[in-house]
Amino acid sequence: MEKQQFKAESKRLLDLMINSIYTHQEIFLREIISNASDAMDKLAYTALTDDKVGLNRDDFAITITRDEENRTITVSDNGIGMSKAEMEENLGTICKSGSLSFKQEMEKNEDIDIIGQFGVGFYSAFMVASSVTVISKKYGEDTAWKWVSDGADGYTIEETQRDAAGTDIIMTLKEDTEGEDYSKFLEEYELRNLIKRYSDYIRYPIRMEVTKQRQIEEPEEETAEGEEKEYKAPKYESYTEWETLNSMVPLWQRNKKDVTAEEYESFYREKFFDYNKPLCTIHTSAEGSVSFKALLYVPGKAPYDYYSKEFKAGLQLYSSGVMIMEHCEELLPEHFRFVRGIVDTQDLSLNISREMLQHNRQLTIIARNIEKKIKAELKSLMENDREKYEQFFTAFGRQLKYSTVAEYGAHKDATQDLLLFWSHKQGKLITLHEYVEAMAEGQEKIYYVTGEDKNRLAKLPQVETLAKKGYDALLFTEDVDEFIPQYLYTFEEKQFCNASTEDLNLQTEEEMKELENKAEELKGFLTFVKESLGDAVKEVKLSANLGAHPVCMTPEAGMSFEMEKYMKKANPEFAYPVGRILELNADHEAVKAMQAAMTEDPVKAKDYARLLMYQAQLMADLPIEDPYAYTELVCKLMK
Ligand code: ADP
Repeated sequence: MEKQQFKAESKRLLDLMINSIYTHQEIFLREIISNASDAMDKLAYTALTDDKVGLNRDDFAITITRDEENRTITVSDNGIGMSKAEMEENLGTICKSGSLSFKQEMEKNEDIDIIGQFGVGFYSAFMVASSVTVISKKYGEDTAWKWVSDGADGYTIEETQRDAAGTDIIMTLKEDTEGEDYSKFLEEYELRNLIKRYSDYIRYPIRMEVTKQRQIEEPEEETAEGEEKEYKAPKYESYTEWETLNSMVPLWQRNKKDVTAEEYESFYREKFFDYNKPLCTIHTSAEGSVSFKALLYVPGKAPYDYYSKEFKAGLQLYSSGVMIMEHCEELLPEHFRFVRGIVDTQDLSLNISREMLQHNRQLTIIARNIEKKIKAELKSLMENDREKYEQFFTAFGRQLKYSTVAEYGAHKDATQDLLLFWSHKQGKLITLHEYVEAMAEGQEKIYYVTGEDKNRLAKLPQVETLAKKGYDALLFTEDVDEFIPQYLYTFEEKQFCNASTEDLNLQTEEEMKELENKAEELKGFLTFVKESLGDAVKEVKLSANLGAHPVCMTPEAGMSFEMEKYMKKANPEFAYPVGRILELNADHEAVKAMQAAMTEDPVKAKDYARLLMYQAQLMADLPIEDPYAYTELVCKLMK
């Protein structure tokens, strides 16, 4: 029979498996059992609507058989099985789910030690087996198929016999070497331990024929009257019996106090294919109009595809022990779509369809309850363990921000008090509530500035002006930040103020009057500067907010330079330049020098005007369209 080759990517994973370090090998059994359990989930689900399956929930089981002579272990299930095409697709390539993220991690980091933590799937059999045979019959089909591979040189598939639907995975163990003992996986004791350790919660019985001892009952010997009874050691005999080795209680059904942190963690890793630790675990249940149990996790890191269309949100939904949906989106609000977990309830009808789920009252109640639990958990993390919360926020803060502005802020109440922003005054991330609480006497508004880099923002003249009055400014550095004030409008009754675009109104009436008079006095000068710069600026005016700076560039009312940049990237067709306003500090030496040059050497004064405009652009993080003209200008003035 002709051998088929594995795809290149699978070949690499296989090599990794075949040569993996010894200590990881024992997880192969967990992986094979977990596949068997998934296959039975699928058939159990089919049975809900298809009477021909003829199996009840209790009829499903995994059996393990050992053959010491031939060095094989066989894991059999009566699940959904695989067709020939599915065997080729599933066993010939690295599969979609768990193994894919593994593969990505593997490519990023050649020698990362992750096999032990990852759901590496079917291929892990090759860590202990020199050859693997898969015999499978798909439910509803007549033909069974046999797939055989020794890992290295591809695989063969041929027709075979199997009575009912299901799959047998037959692993022929490698020969022992000096340092590596594969034979131990043939021992009852070892297998029993592995199942207890890794697969105890599997919801179907895992059965194995085990050897037991029993005492041989011997008839009482007659003793003569008065004679002392002679002591005889009891005799034992061995016999075999099928035994269920796992307790079958899923983790989420167990009592919280009986579950260890490690158990929660390893369950998370296996179930959700993440080798990072979860950030927090929420194990909860509710009784009442709707009863359910839920085990929820906030991941420690955003999955690589989190912000892409590939990412599938939603919780696993179980009903009376049968998984009815892998990603039930109705159970999670959009703003918490990063949460992973399982919900188990008996209050749903089992043959519920997707459309029915969307309008299901019970489901809505569960979803609301879960949302509250997640929010409470995050709030408590925020209040009690800020470092960890910041880690969470690094991973999923963007999600919360986007959800705050989504649908014109319709759901902002759910997220606004979970947001963090950089505080200029406190030099750390703070919540909006903390900003308001720390507001200085007389401060009315929540000030913020927007830009790409918080160190640059901190040096903005407006921020310095605010700081001088003891006012804090939030430094917004993400695209989405700037939309937040627009949809919140106020927070705890305080209005937002973009310090780089809006008038700060920090002057007294007297100071305002003074500025107006000065502008009137310098009218000729301001016109001269505007004319020197032409269309490059929309307006030239005096400013009272400049402190020690000579100039700054502010946008025309209503827009900001950050928004301009964002639009240019996101929607270039509709992007248009925002009008630039050059503000001058009349008391600054450089501005005075320009003013003096206006009468003495108008050509030089024009050059000064351009130079100061370039400076203002640089400070506002705006590009200089013609850097050559700029350098020429500087050189000219230095001569
Ligand atoms: P994963 O389980 O992460 O998808 P695996 O490599 O473990 O990846 O398995 C690949 C696929 O092979 C599974 O998704 C499943 O479709 C199929 N498969 C594996 N074992 C069985 C089994 N016992 N019964 C039916 N299908 C199976």
